[in-house]
Amino acid sequence: MPDHRVFNYCAGPSCLPEEVLKQMQQDIWNIQGTGMGILEHSHRAKTYDKILEETEADFARISNLPKNYKVIFVTGGATGQNWMVPANLLAQNETADYITTGYWAERSFEHAQMFGHVREAYSGKHDNYARIPDDADLKLSDKPTYVHMCSNNTIFGTQWHQRDAKGRILDDAWLPRVPKIPDGSFLVCDMCSDIYCRPIDWSKYGVVYAGAQKNLGIAGTTIVVVREDLLERRPRELPIVNQYRAQVAEHSRYNTPPVFAIYACGLMFKWILKQGGLQAIHERNVRKAGLIYDVLSGSKFYRPHAERSSRSLMNITFRCPTEQLDDLFVKEAQAHGLENIKGHRAAGGMRVSTYNAMPEAGCNAMAEFMKDFEKRNSTAKTEARAKAHA
Ligand code: PMP
Repeated sequence: MPDHRVFNYCAGPSCLPEEVLKQMQQDIWNIQGTGMGILEHSHRAKTYDKILEETEADFARISNLPKNYKVIFVTGGATGQNWMVPANLLAQNETADYITTGYWAERSFEHAQMFGHVREAYSGKHDNYARIPDDADLKLSDKPTYVHMCSNNTIFGTQWHQRDAKGRILDDAWLPRVPKIPDGSFLVCDMCSDIYCRPIDWSKYGVVYAGAQKNLGIAGTTIVVVREDLLERRPRELPIVNQYRAQVAEHSRYNTPPVFAIYACGLMFKWILKQGGLQAIHERNVRKAGLIYDVLSGSKFYRPHAERSSRSLMNITFRCPTEQLDDLFVKEAQAHGLENIKGHRAAGGMRVSTYNAMPEAGCNAMAEFMKDFEKRNSTAKTEARAKAHA
């Protein structure tokens, strides 16, 4: 068994900072001198009281979460939120608009259809989800209760960014953008694969949800942030455990919560704060993704999947000129200790995930490998093929 660690570019569950893993190792054995490990503590024990309190407080501190937004840690994944959102917020006679910019957004749209009237305000299917729409591309209803979006499309490697008049990512600053929505509606955002990769303005959202297993920890809990006034909505009777307001009232402890996954979020939040917070994390993420995008921009060999205006800071998707070369790339990369880069079957090629915990050294190693692979495999024929697809 290899003792060394590899660079793991998995799209999720994904790599964790080494210091966080080491802390977990210690706390599994004996946390805070209690003589027992975190996995053995009751969710009503004082040790967990403190962990939960600090985890909620650090989450809020990282992004200046306004007082009228409540955070809960629940189970069921982001997939569970596909029905929890409409079940809690959409009445049978109301309409919600869905902007489907990728596979997961399609899933959200599909699940919501059981609860109310839902419309697809935009679909990216026509270009295999390579581009994030402009506001002018959206066909929103007059009065949707909410508009649902996915801020980062994990499979296709696209993300919502502010753009200049020419459609370029604004000053290369990679700041978040949300669509303009009708007055009285609120925005629901699936932020699974880019939450806390950059600063966030909560006032733009009604509900945000994200599985923890990419930027914020491990699989097992989903973070949901809900604006307080929306907790008053009661569109239908729901089991108590599935009511946002019950989970908020009980601080995510209506029943036994996923203690270890929430504890892991707590460690990640402290790590983010130690890195200098979201501004510093964001600057580092821009540098990290830049190392790989620079190789793609300067290449006659690789074909990026995402349009430049829409490319993601978190998941970088591209292909070689042929599928055989894609396979060779994945195989050789693995032999170099660069793991989990095979793209999702819907997008093909490669996907390199560069979440918060991926060190700059990992992005550098990938960029160097890409340059070397191109040098060794590029021929006049492959260049012509790549150009034909450009
Ligand atoms: N939304 C997005 C953007 C995702 O990336 C994923 C998982 N990769 C999901 C939803 C589904 O999350 P889960 O498997 O936790 O239900």
